[in-house]
Amino acid sequence: MRLIPPPVEPFRIKMVESLGWTTRRERDKLLQAAGFNVFGLHADKVLIDLLTDSGTSAMSDRQWAGIMMGDESYAGARSFYRFEKAVRGIFGFTHVIPTHQGRAAERVLFETVLGKNSAVPSNIHFDTTRANIEVRNARAVDLAGAAAYDPDALLPFKGDMDTAKLEAFLDRNGGRVPVVMLTVTNNSGGGQPVSLANIQRVAAICRRRKIPFFFDACRFAENAWFIKQREKGYGRWSVRDIARKMFSFADGATMSAKKDALVNMGGFVTLNDPDLAGRIKNNLIIGEGFPTYGGLSGRDLEAIAQGLHEGLDEAYLEYRTRQVAYLGGLLDEVGVPYFKPAGGHAIYVLADRLLPHIPRDRYPGWALTVALYRESGIRAVEIGGVMFGRKNPKTGREVFPELELVRLAIPRRVYTASHMIFVAEALASIARKPEQVKGIRIIEEPRFLRHFTARFEEID
Ligand SMILES: *Cc1c(COP(=O)(O)O)cnc(C)c1O
Repeated sequence: MRLIPPPVEPFRIKMVESLGWTTRRERDKLLQAAGFNVFGLHADKVLIDLLTDSGTSAMSDRQWAGIMMGDESYAGARSFYRFEKAVRGIFGFTHVIPTHQGRAAERVLFETVLGKNSAVPSNIHFDTTRANIEVRNARAVDLAGAAAYDPDALLPFKGDMDTAKLEAFLDRNGGRVPVVMLTVTNNSGGGQPVSLANIQRVAAICRRRKIPFFFDACRFAENAWFIKQREKGYGRWSVRDIARKMFSFADGATMSAKKDALVNMGGFVTLNDPDLAGRIKNNLIIGEGFPTYGGLSGRDLEAIAQGLHEGLDEAYLEYRTRQVAYLGGLLDEVGVPYFKPAGGHAIYVLADRLLPHIPRDRYPGWALTVALYRESGIRAVEIGGVMFGRKNPKTGREVFPELELVRLAIPRRVYTASHMIFVAEALASIARKPEQVKGIRIIEEPRFLRHFTARFEEID
């Protein structure tokens, strides 16, 4: 395996934030107190926090300057028009509706378009998207290809939707589908990109059947970068032009600005249909705010407007994706298995392969998050049996998801190559003596979304 060289960070550091150093003995105590659940840790006791890439970006000097320039007028603020111009310029849709974060954008869209028996297909729905559909008694349907679930297939666009499955689904349910979604990159499927060829095919199917087609666009810039790198014919295109081309096939998009817009809070819906936009704005006023701020401050809108442009900067995107691939390369060297190829925003470790002595009902992924914190103060998130395991109501036995993953999500512009080496070394030291990691058992769990608050104990 050829070692991937570390990326050169395309920025220098003007402000720093100290890290939370702890001793191993302290971490043992803190784990006990948190019920062996890393969501229960205080963040200042975490050395390197890879829990999520959402809302954890470092803002630039220009974004902070924008914060000082925010216009906090209730209606028609200057900051809104800057924000609207940035979104229109990149996405190309007429209407731009701000919301406080991505899930609020999903809520105002789905509350407006869903009926009781509706179904919404996507490649793979992100959890908040799925929840916003299911809470309205509609169905969220995942139609990704088989490669999305195969950690070893070295393919360029594992986020693609299976268009044969989409056609078959629409043949049976066409009348009940108010919108087709496509998640770029596919967060719940290893952070893998979707190709322009696939986007074009999905759009053609929707157009023929007159069904609106929307992107879940959180990581559109990372997706466009992968198209430039991997899809024939786009190597000489600018990432901005590729993004415009992606959106040119769609009727609208929802976006969490906490990802590729490089801010700590924010989101929006953007679309062409004036009638639908009007209905969404009515809904917005009830739950989020007036349509020129939608749950955000003027200063937040300034930071998003600036962040959207920085997120498309190609020097930044090269560094961004190479940093993730670099961590993957280090893990290859030390024999830690992960979902391949490396995603745009995260590495997903295959915990059941790393810890083969722990059976699925002893939660190897969860056990790895505990071991990683104990070893080096690193926080990661399990995406496996605890998060997605469900009891079969008839047999009482637990049914586990296909993959048992631990996600190392990399915040944007926050950590350097030496932090990545530190993370790889911590995992390497676990991989040298995997049998020392103990399985775990759940001692207390809530009814919904148990991974956030459940308590555990280690099994000797
Ligand atoms: C983060 C995310 C969302 C939800 O956005 P929030 O800002 O966390 O509400 C929706 N879809 C995808 C793919 C995401 O990654």
